[in-house]
Amino acid sequence: MTVPLGMPRPDAGLVDRFGRRATDLRISLTDKCNLRCTYCMPAEGLDWLARDQVLTAGEIARLVRIGVDSLGVRELRLTGGEPLVRADLVEIIAALRSEHPDLPISLTTNGVGLDKKAAALREAGLTRINVSMDSLHPGTFAQLTRRPFLDRVLKGIEAAAEAGLGLVKINAVLMRGINDHEAPALLEWAVARGFELRFIEQMPLDADHGWTREGMITAREIRELLGRSFVLTPDPRSRDGAPAERFEVRRAGSPDVVAGTVGIIASVTEPFCADCTRTRITAEGKVRSCLFSHEETDLLATLRGGASDADIAAVWQQAMWAKPRAHGMDHVGLGAPDFVQPDRSMSAIGG
Ligand code: SAM
Ligand code: SF4
Repeated sequence: MTVPLGMPRPDAGLVDRFGRRATDLRISLTDKCNLRCTYCMPAEGLDWLARDQVLTAGEIARLVRIGVDSLGVRELRLTGGEPLVRADLVEIIAALRSEHPDLPISLTTNGVGLDKKAAALREAGLTRINVSMDSLHPGTFAQLTRRPFLDRVLKGIEAAAEAGLGLVKINAVLMRGINDHEAPALLEWAVARGFELRFIEQMPLDADHGWTREGMITAREIRELLGRSFVLTPDPRSRDGAPAERFEVRRAGSPDVVAGTVGIIASVTEPFCADCTRTRITAEGKVRSCLFSHEETDLLATLRGGASDADIAAVWQQAMWAKPRAHGMDHVGLGAPDFVQPDRSMSAIGG
């Protein structure tokens, strides 16, 4: 295969034109989900992919092998859609673990059904888990996810902690007038249990296109909301390309005791594009160099067309070489509309 002009050397890994190197691979295992979070999916769901359009366990294993052995991938996160709805999830993780004994493998899940699978996931070799939970009130949870499943999620989180799935991280998105007032209660709940809470700024990746820059809760507001009950100080540990800015948390009444840590992922208002280390593969095997890309490269078609590992690696490298410098999201509605929302929603990309 000829390598196009301006491309990096085959041994250079997943580098782009701006000198970034992607070492953190996120693979979406399915576009399907059993929740309908308002900031992600429409109430009626989406047109799901046909089974034969989705990466098989063997194809996932091959792509991870190419990523790790040839392209410098050092970390893997499995996501979706909802990865727990995939019946072969435990087998996928076990196969990946047997080939890559030292690869950190984490999972992002909504936690529904996790109580039944947490121990098996740990046994299969999962390193860590992030569970999304935006509210501790059953009614608010149901309003946000359009499903009354808070008790199942709480059971799942408990099971993950019991199974020894590392430091359990909890992801929460705050929506104005719905759950923003819950920010301190969510943090108190998480630190009391030894979990790390991460607030994610709402991004314009909802299928309903309901996001507005003025309506979203910003990182600055999150810090202010938390500051009413806690003292936050920057975590002295290096951020090292991580999307979350981390803070040590002290309760207002006990300023000498670090109760835990909290992360804030300010993708919109304090973007970290310059330090991005991510490469994403959707459930149907398309490479996205950025969450907000308008372009995708069909790796699965290349793979199913009989390409060699070297050819697949070259196609993946080429896709990442074209990664945009930044997403321009913070200007939407503020006088410089240089951001256009991608056609795909978060669930269809793989968050
Ligand atoms: N279904 C799993 C879950 O909810 O954790 C995994 C996939 S979900 C797309 C991954 C993460 O993306 C979740 O933590 C979810 O809250 C977050 N997310 C989804 N839509 C978002 C949006 N528009 N803005 C910010 N975060 C979003
Ligand atoms: Fe499903 Fe996760 Fe999207 Fe919620 S955020 S609808 S749980 S994919």
